[in-house]
Amino acid sequence: MSKYDIQVAEENCTGCLRCQLACSDLYTKAFNPSEAMIRVVVSGADCSIHFTEECNECGVCADNCFFAALEKSKKENDQ
Ligand code: SF4
Ligand code: SF4
Repeated sequence: MSKYDIQVAEENCTGCLRCQLACSDLYTKAFNPSEAMIRVVVSGADCSIHFTEECNECGVCADNCFFAALEKSKKENDQ
């Protein structure tokens, strides 16, 4: 599986949690944001985005972000 660097632009994040839903759906077969390996913390108008140590850099969360808060680029050493 390809690995990606994930670029985060927290200022674009709406807090929609599509990224967490996509990650949990893929890896736990359930829409359970608390099981995702990406965590979005919404505080008023601000969002902070973190990845857990279990994140495998698959890039699926970035594919499911419609607001350009997550962008993926292939790792240079990944063929
Ligand atoms: S990073 Fe993207 S998909 Fe995730 S909550 Fe923010 S806007 Fe939504
Ligand atoms: S890169 Fe993959 S494993 Fe990591 S948080 Fe995103 S969807 Fe989950």
